[in-house]
Amino acid sequence: MPVLCQTAAMVSNGLKDRVRAKAKECGFALCHVTRPEVGGQHADALQRWSDAGMQGDMVWMAEEMRMQRRKSPETMLQGVNSVITVAMHYTPPDYSLDEADAQKLCGVISAYAHGDDYHDIMKKRLKALALELDAMLGVHDQRVFVDTAPVLEHALAASAGLGWQGKHTLTIQRQLGSWFLLGEIFTTAEFEPDQPAINHCGSCTACIDICPTRAIVAPYVVDARRCISYLTIEFDDFIPAEFRPLMGNRIYGCDDCQMVCPWNAHATKDKDAVVDLLMPKGENNLPDLASLLLLDEEAFRIRFRKSPIKRTKRRGLLRNVCIAMGNSGNVHCIPALLDALNDGESLIRGHAAWALARLTDQGNRERVLAALNLLSEQENDPAVLHEFMSAIQGIREES
Ligand code: SF4
Ligand code: SF4
Repeated sequence: MPVLCQTAAMVSNGLKDRVRAKAKECGFALCHVTRPEVGGQHADALQRWSDAGMQGDMVWMAEEMRMQRRKSPETMLQGVNSVITVAMHYTPPDYSLDEADAQKLCGVISAYAHGDDYHDIMKKRLKALALELDAMLGVHDQRVFVDTAPVLEHALAASAGLGWQGKHTLTIQRQLGSWFLLGEIFTTAEFEPDQPAINHCGSCTACIDICPTRAIVAPYVVDARRCISYLTIEFDDFIPAEFRPLMGNRIYGCDDCQMVCPWNAHATKDKDAVVDLLMPKGENNLPDLASLLLLDEEAFRIRFRKSPIKRTKRRGLLRNVCIAMGNSGNVHCIPALLDALNDGESLIRGHAAWALARLTDQGNRERVLAALNLLSEQENDPAVLHEFMSAIQGIREES
C-alpha cells in the first residue's frame, strides 16, 4: 500500500461522503471517522481490566507495548490524522435462545462463525477500500486493521459515532443492532471527525441478567475468564468445572447477551451489502453433536478450513462438544463419549469423562464405571487422570 505522507490538507465533506459511499460498495454497512485518540476513561478502564487479570490466558493483551498502543492509537501509524471505522454486517441467528436451548443434541455456534472466516473477508474488503482511498485522497499513508491488532476498536467506533458501546461491551447501532464486526483504516489524511455516538442502553440490564456465567461483572466490564466466548474459543485447557454445566450446548462462542438486547429485536438487515460472505452455512447452524465428535484431524481440517472455527483446533471444539453432550441429559450420547475416552487428545478424554459422569444412570452405571476404571489404569496424563477419578467418584456418590 502506498504512499508516504506529506502535510495533510483537510478532506472536504463532499469527498468524505464519497468515501462513505465507496465503503458501502466495498461491503461495509457503516463508515464513520474519528481522530486517532482514545478518551482517558477508556484507557483507565482497559488498565483496570488488565490489572484484574480479566484477560485470562490471553497474555498478549496485557503486554505493555500492546497496552500502550491501545491507549495511544496515534502510535499505530506515523503521522496519522484520522481513523476510518467501518462495520461489516452479518446474519443474526434465525432461532431464539429457547429454541437453541431445546436442541439438546445440537451445538450452538456464534452467528458470526456460521459462514467463512470474517478476518479474511474483512481484510479483503478493507484493502479494496484502501485502494479506493489511494485514488481518491492522493498522497497519504494508511494501514488497515482487523480485530487482531492492538486497537480499542469499540471506543474508536463510539467516538466516530458509528455506534455506542453497550453494557455487554459490543458496539450497537440503532438500525443494525449489534450484528456486525468492526474494522479500521488509519490514514494520514485529515477528515472532519463525526459526532460521537450517544449511549442508548439506559436502565436496561438484559444482557447482564441473561449471561449464563455472570461474565458481565459490571456494566461495560466483561471478565473474559467467565465468558463462554473466551472459554470455548480462546482457552486451550481444561474448562473450570464450575462453568461446564452453565455452558449448555454452546460449543463455539455465545450470542446470548446480543440475542436479548432490545436493540437487536428490530434490527434491520443490511440489504444493500455486497454478497454476504458471512451467510450462515447450514452445516454450522445447530450442528449435530454426535457427528462432530466423530471428526478426526483430517475431517476437521477439511470441514473448517475456511471457517473461523478452525481457531479452536479439533481438540478445543470436541472438548466443547463433550461438555454439550454432558449437559444434554440424553443417555444416547454415552456410546460416543465412551469412544472419546480413548481419543489421542487429553482435553477430549478428560471432558468425555466429565460428560459421562453427568449422564450415567442405573441402566449404564456398571458399563461406564468399568470403562473409566480400566482406562484410568492406563492413563498417563495427570489432568485426565484427575477427571477420570472425579467422574468415578461422582458416579459412585450418585448411586
Ligand atoms: S458472550 Fe455469553 S458468556 Fe460472554 S458475556 Fe455475553 S452472554 Fe455472557
Ligand atoms: S441488553 Fe440492554 S444494557 Fe445490554 S447492551 Fe443491550 S441495551 Fe445495553
